[in-house]
Amino acid sequence: MNPIIEYENLKNTNKNFQDDYLRAFKEVIDSGWYILGDKVKTFETEFADFIETKYSIGVASGLDALILILKGFDFPVGSEIIVPSNTYIATILSILHCNLIPRLVEPELETYNINPSLIEENITKKTKAILAVHLYGKSCNMEAIMNIAYTYQLPVIEDCAQAHGAKFRDKKVGSFGVGAFSFYPTKNLGALGDAGAITTNSNDLLQKIRALRNYGSTTKYQNEYIGYNSRLDELQAAFLLVKLKYLSEIIIHKRKLAAIYLSSLKQDFICPIADEDYFDVYHIFNIRHPRRDQLKKYLLKCGIETEIHYPIPPHKQTAMQGIIEGTYPISEEIHQTTLSLPISFGHTENDVLRLTEVLNKF
Ligand SMILES: *Cc1c(COP(=O)(O)O)cnc(C)c1O
Repeated sequence: MNPIIEYENLKNTNKNFQDDYLRAFKEVIDSGWYILGDKVKTFETEFADFIETKYSIGVASGLDALILILKGFDFPVGSEIIVPSNTYIATILSILHCNLIPRLVEPELETYNINPSLIEENITKKTKAILAVHLYGKSCNMEAIMNIAYTYQLPVIEDCAQAHGAKFRDKKVGSFGVGAFSFYPTKNLGALGDAGAITTNSNDLLQKIRALRNYGSTTKYQNEYIGYNSRLDELQAAFLLVKLKYLSEIIIHKRKLAAIYLSSLKQDFICPIADEDYFDVYHIFNIRHPRRDQLKKYLLKCGIETEIHYPIPPHKQTAMQGIIEGTYPISEEIHQTTLSLPISFGHTENDVLRLTEVLNKF
């Protein structure tokens, strides 16, 4: 009997970095400075360098990154934000928490990302921004999106929570518009707890969001904005500095595993498309199959764990009743057929070879 292939084992993955983590932990303790200290500052500089933006701002989570960007723009209550119907719920929640209206646009069935050719028909007088999501580790078509944004003079916000290091034509996501990143432990750049960041080239936005994350204050005990407490934790920044050094290696490893899947899986499975304009980082490697649920059960019987990202689309969530109207058939098709295969830093090429063998027998 072969050993079980887990979907992901964070403990094993993080063991690779343990010595560095422990050193970083001690440095923070010894510094005696636990909020917005040198680790946060250094991480912000290094992360901005990595994404190739002028600035980055560390915040408490990916959801907060999205909320603080929207708050930073200060759109009037009731403004509409273009957003894909096929996304993780957090993207939509950020819009609702800012008293704005999500205008859902269907994805492309081939890339799972927002379909640029459907954006224009959803732009109204009330539209104030395009919030694109780079799902599963693939960039959206940023040429098409930036062109529409330019025509209608709309800012672009990028949900990069699944796409650290992903590129469209050699330019990293998070550097086209304003980027929101999550460092939730399972993400390609994962912390040991909650954390997030915003990337931008705008000095105005930098100043405002820096204040918003810290009680709306730029000078101690003087409050210019109705702010929040959403600071990137000093300890998480220290751990993220460690992980950031390995991010390119993590991405290379995942791309190698993805290449094996792509060249070995038989045609019954609809695989993610690969195209030279796109540098994909495979936060998730999903396939689609009409008998997805049977396939998942079959794999589990063979000792292979999989996940579904996601089983219920946002517009069908109980929380969205009376808030999001309409049907989104392409989104629903994806949610009904998608299956996420193991693809982590902890998986080996042999794991993936064994997996493809089992899959091809389905
Ligand atoms: C993970 C994720 C988020 C939220 O990030 P948190 O750090 O958990 O708040 C937002 N959007 C997408 C697409 C995500 O995958």
